[in-house]
Amino acid sequence: MSSKLEIVRQNVIDCNKCDLCKTRTNSVPGKGNSKSDVMFVGEAPGRNEDLRGEPFIGVAGRRLSEALEGIGISREDVYITNAVKCRPPNNRAPSKLEKETCQEYIQKEIEIIKPKIICILGNTAFGSILGGSEITKFRGKLGIKNNQLYFITIHPAATIYNQKLIEVFKKDIKKLFDLITELKNGKNVPIDIEFSS
Ligand code: SF4
Repeated sequence: MSSKLEIVRQNVIDCNKCDLCKTRTNSVPGKGNSKSDVMFVGEAPGRNEDLRGEPFIGVAGRRLSEALEGIGISREDVYITNAVKCRPPNNRAPSKLEKETCQEYIQKEIEIIKPKIICILGNTAFGSILGGSEITKFRGKLGIKNNQLYFITIHPAATIYNQKLIEVFKKDIKKLFDLITELKNGKNVPIDIEFSS
């Protein structure tokens, strides 16, 4: 991990800027390769993440790892984080104030890592980061906002309750890395949606 990212990580661990610090067990800083071309972003940590202080563990995290491994990529190759770094009680959605207060951390992660594509995991993150909704209509698509590319897919936890979505999720992850390869080869990639700032 780069030293700049290590500072962000420590600041997240020590943070008490919003009320979620009162109910969390651990803050959950992002984790992974600071030179990754892709940054995966979920909405907020769940119970397992809160207990361990690590993003995307438990069954949902395993589904993400499996989808990556299916195309020869290890979790350590990519960077995984959440828009909000502490678990909201009973997994409720984070409030507007909590999201705004926590925003500085993800902005710093993006500035340091400079991902070619940010992959949004799930409808709640889609709403809070891009202002979108109805992820089933938008999943598998590439969008742009403020000159940053975003790829939209379902939350891996959705595959736990609907087994048919496992293949959908794997297909999206493959498409994401195909797009990364094209970008690295200097090709233009087709942008499906422009999000307003
Ligand atoms: S959610 Fe974000 S802003 Fe709130 S205490 Fe945790 S790290 Fe700090």
